[in-house]
Amino acid sequence: MQLIFEISKSGRTAADVPAGDVPAVSLEDVIGASFMREELDLPEVSETDLVRHYTNLSRRNFGVDLGFYPLGSCTMKYNPKINETVAALPGFTGLHPAAPEAFARGNLELLFDMQRLLCAVFGMADFTLQPAAGAHGELTGVMMIRKYFEKKGEKRRRILIPDAAHGTNPASGALCGFETVTLGSNAEGGVDLQRLDALMTEDVAALMLTNPNTLGLFERNIEDVARIVHDRGGLLYGDGANANAFLGKTRPGDLGFDVIQLNLHKTFSTPHGGGGPGSGPVGVGEKLTDFLPVPRIVPCEAGLRWSSNFPDTIGRVRAFYGNFSVIVKAYSYLRSLGAAGLIRAAEMAVLNANYIKEKLKPYFDLPYDRICMHECVFSGSRQVALSGVHTTDIAKRLIDFGYHPPTIYFPLIVAEAIMIEPTETESKETLDAFCDAMAAIAREAEENPQRVKDAPLSTPVGRLDEVLAARKPDVCWSKPKA
Ligand SMILES: *Cc1c(COP(=O)(O)O)cnc(C)c1O
Repeated sequence: MQLIFEISKSGRTAADVPAGDVPAVSLEDVIGASFMREELDLPEVSETDLVRHYTNLSRRNFGVDLGFYPLGSCTMKYNPKINETVAALPGFTGLHPAAPEAFARGNLELLFDMQRLLCAVFGMADFTLQPAAGAHGELTGVMMIRKYFEKKGEKRRRILIPDAAHGTNPASGALCGFETVTLGSNAEGGVDLQRLDALMTEDVAALMLTNPNTLGLFERNIEDVARIVHDRGGLLYGDGANANAFLGKTRPGDLGFDVIQLNLHKTFSTPHGGGGPGSGPVGVGEKLTDFLPVPRIVPCEAGLRWSSNFPDTIGRVRAFYGNFSVIVKAYSYLRSLGAAGLIRAAEMAVLNANYIKEKLKPYFDLPYDRICMHECVFSGSRQVALSGVHTTDIAKRLIDFGYHPPTIYFPLIVAEAIMIEPTETESKETLDAFCDAMAAIAREAEENPQRVKDAPLSTPVGRLDEVLAARKPDVCWSKPKA
């Protein structure tokens, strides 16, 4: 496919601007000659060429509206289009972020109601909607933990993080100046209580726990975990990015979590990918409410207003209202599903993951063979031993079958990991077809391994040098020398 620069023809234009009826102004007078460039080399194309170019580009992409996208840990579920319609209402999109509160009362009401709903669903005392993504929510939560101990005059330098945690957890702890200590998992893939007991000293501020963890497993000893942490004066942080597994079934607040972050762009059906936009609300128990970011929404005579009058706050973590339209979409999802719908979503997410786990068990190793939550983690080790086919090869081959590959090589505690999250929005037919494809690839790995190693065979380009692409991205087009 050609670049848009390559189809450019001098003088072509996609816009038909009528002749001006006011005196022309010289751009030089407005901008200043020093800021003007003689040659900008912008592509010049007709409207037809423009539309075709971008439509063709979009068809090379893969999205959840196009096919099954079982990316573990990422929750790539279908996003109901009603959410988009609601978020596009002029009252939401037309409001200037700096408009006075008097013009924003309806939007403040939506935010306030969203906080209230999240408190009810997760059993927390209060929520902030400011953070822009899950990892940003983690950082916000850890900043509150730091401030809590500062206020108490306790010097706690460490944070415990299980080896099954998401990689952003240790990063968030370290960014806040804590030393992060890895807590090994037990044979069941859960927290090892003896190790926790030994490591949970007076020096430890918090345990950061993902529940269900990145193996897709629910922490069986969560109450004991909370007790050990709290008995030593520590706080329990919950990474709630996987909350879609337990909506309406249990509440982190009831399990003993003092602070959790959510990923609206995972659990609450708003599209994500390519790094954003997301939303990572943070919920806190009573111990931490004083430290929430400002401004916070408070009731006043006229309805609701912003207030920054919270002396112990950690301050602002983001400008304006957070990623407001992402919050609107999540609110629309919550409201349209209602309590019964959320519970059903969680049940179907768990049922679908267990269905895939059982169906694929004969073909791939399953290191933690337990009932899973919203995702299951296989290992490609059997295929490596048998024919040198690696998990990467299996993932690449899936592309030829029309599926987005699952998450691979994560979590790190599973060799050759294949982490599959079907989500609740997929039918049995889709899951069956996907399992058939995985089984076919497992057979191919035995009978014709080279074919799997050469995959993908159906895409415009085969295997890219992903490290080079990430380390030395070359995204700037320059005109070939004539
Ligand atoms: C996705 C994820 C995160 C990070 O969320 P972002 O929105 O990508 O910053 C953190 N923890 C877990 C368990 C996740 O799945």
